[in-house]
Amino acid sequence: MNTPLAERYAAVRHRLETAVRRAGRAPADVTLVAVSKYHPAEAVAAVAALGQRDFGENYVQEALQKQEALAGEDILWHCIGHVQSRKAKDVAGRFALIHTVDSEKLAHNLHKALWRPEDDTCPVVQDVLLQVNIGEEVQKSGIDAAETARLAETVLQLPTLRLCGLMCLPPFFDDGEAARPFFAALRKLRDDLELSLGVPLPHLSMGMSGDFEQAVEEGATIVRVGTDIFGPRPPRP
Ligand SMILES: *Cc1c(COP(=O)(O)O)cnc(C)c1O
Repeated sequence: MNTPLAERYAAVRHRLETAVRRAGRAPADVTLVAVSKYHPAEAVAAVAALGQRDFGENYVQEALQKQEALAGEDILWHCIGHVQSRKAKDVAGRFALIHTVDSEKLAHNLHKALWRPEDDTCPVVQDVLLQVNIGEEVQKSGIDAAETARLAETVLQLPTLRLCGLMCLPPFFDDGEAARPFFAALRKLRDDLELSLGVPLPHLSMGMSGDFEQAVEEGATIVRVGTDIFGPRPPRP
């Protein structure tokens, strides 16, 4: 099937594999998340048919609609958009990984949505990352680097949540070299947290269409690529 979609997907896979090898890493160490926000369920199905398993969505309602439409597919859904703490119950337990925990309130609300007080159990453990505002941008969501250790300690105490690492959106995303120092900073923050908290934090979710190669070189284990796979985004549905 030689559609443009298949060609774009193959090109991204090729770039990713090349970057992984150049960094002296193993292909299995980096997961490609195909970011399908605004694209219809049919486009997701088409990329899934090419062998892609992980998909990322930013908006809760849009994500849940696609999950329902594609319920028969072997897909792992990633929540990569900001989640308001009052929407926690809509996302808890419905994504393989929530990348965007950025407040105590959201962490507690996710916990409340998953905990079963009637029998004191948590039937589902939700994997999460902490989103760090690594460029210290006023308008951007994410927790400040300096606050990250405290939020990590909170999440580690909640039995319904499994803390897997950190995620960031650097201030630059069309210029990979400009983004590189922010990727390096996220990695250093992760390394420091592993030491100070004494827990493994294996995942670094960083890198998009314009900068995922640099992110891989700086230690990304998850890259989130939308435009270079699906083409330009249509207007928000
Ligand atoms: C939209 C989005 C992406 C994908 O961006 P592209 O530049 O289209 O690859 C990745 N991560 C997050 C958090 C996004 O919102």
